[in-house]
Amino acid sequence: MPAAERVVIVGGGVAGLVAARALVLAGCEIELLEKSERLGGQLTSHSVAGIELDAGAEAYAVRGDAVPTLLRSLHLADDIVHPASTPAWLHRADGSAVPLPATSLLGIPGVPLAQDVIDAIGMGAALRAQLDNLLPGLVASKAQSVGELVRRRMGQAVLDGLVAPVVRGVHSVSPDELDLDRAAPGLRGALLRQGSLAAAVRSRRESAPAGAAVASLRGGLHRMVSALVADLDRFGVRVRTGVEVTEVDADGARTAAGERVTGEVLLAAPLRADAPRTRVTVATIAVDAPELADAPRGTGVLVAAGAPDVAARALTHLTAKWEWIAESTPLQFLRLSYDEGVEVTPELARRDAEALLGRRIPAPVDSAVVHWERVGRRVDAEHAIDGMRRVGEAESGTGLATVIPYALDVANAIPSDADGRQD
Ligand SMILES: Cc1cc2nc3c(=O)[nH]c(=O)nc-3n(C[C@H](O)[C@H](O)[C@H](O)COP(=O)(O)OP(=O)(O)OC[C@H]3O[C@@H](n4cnc5c(N)ncnc54)[C@H](O)[C@@H]3O)c2cc1C
Repeated sequence: MPAAERVVIVGGGVAGLVAARALVLAGCEIELLEKSERLGGQLTSHSVAGIELDAGAEAYAVRGDAVPTLLRSLHLADDIVHPASTPAWLHRADGSAVPLPATSLLGIPGVPLAQDVIDAIGMGAALRAQLDNLLPGLVASKAQSVGELVRRRMGQAVLDGLVAPVVRGVHSVSPDELDLDRAAPGLRGALLRQGSLAAAVRSRRESAPAGAAVASLRGGLHRMVSALVADLDRFGVRVRTGVEVTEVDADGARTAAGERVTGEVLLAAPLRADAPRTRVTVATIAVDAPELADAPRGTGVLVAAGAPDVAARALTHLTAKWEWIAESTPLQFLRLSYDEGVEVTPELARRDAEALLGRRIPAPVDSAVVHWERVGRRVDAEHAIDGMRRVGEAESGTGLATVIPYALDVANAIPSDADGRQD
């Protein structure tokens, strides 16, 4: 049997699961090794006040076709849901709150002198952003990160006041750490074609599907994991949880227990202990506060750095954002995200929610605090330096709309026998 037909996948997050499914359908024999006792990695659920909610990722970016195609093949397409169309808000560094500018991408304004931009960052910063129109399209067109692009074209105030809160709230990294092409595919090309960043944002917005920029599943995005795992089971993938891999080479993996598992290795978990790590804490509180049903800050609030009296960097008003949650409970659900170094308690989350929503919030009926440790994306020079095949967010960049197509591309490039199964 040729070696390529047997593949050992290390890591049972969404990248490993998606790759395993593609490879078994292509006719490979798969063994998947997962360190923890459960599959799904950062895509998982927890129960708060009796409702099963996403504990990690809760939505995917609506760009590209990879995630919807996967959901179709998992028979979940009928359960795709979109968030409420009310805008999110920005909690500014001076403590006041404004709706996020309507025409924007990752917080980058498409119309720098629009009133909602001026309200958010002030006239001086908006005028500086407008200078983007006068710069040649080539300026910053080779920027690696979102931060570099925005700083050079629109100025630091737009970066700090609009882009950083959105990027930190959505991607859990600073704009300088966010790879431009992965976070906003097509934006660089549009800048070169349109001649300004604002025009590029507008053209990307116009070419995006109508409606929201993200989507999820009724019942939570974690249902994707259950469906993937059921398929792996059906197609005969050997899935082993509680098996940590400590070493890999071209022909196999060695587990912490000293077992050698042979086959071509696909790494869906970074083994390098020195990969950069970000710690994020997510607190979800369920409160009996029907008066919040009018969604005082739309679907949630992103927090500018330096905002006084608020430790959270983002608040999602889950019951205002997702209709299926509101339909499941008379309670209001709020989810707050925190950066490393904050001692997060349900009481801190309640107080932050009060500051961010501008309303009195009663003591939570129930709550959950989850700590996440995420590896950052390795730099390009490190990629595949040892010839190993790798998938997962340390390789592709964060977010399901990036992780999933990347994992599929790498899996599909692995040679396999000709008679794949029918999907
Ligand atoms: C709080 C939070 C909110 C998020 N929100 C969103 C969102 O709304 N939208 C979005 O698109 N993305 C979101 N993300 C990011 C998204 O969840 C991730 O990009 C994606 O799930 C990463 O998948 P992965 O398979 O690459 O990695 P992971 O999910 O981290 O999976 C890696 C797996 O490998 C296992 N593993 C590690 N080391 C070993 C080893 N040595 N041996 C065996 N197994 C090992 C781990 O236990 C884990 O199960 C969010 C992330 C977090 C934490």
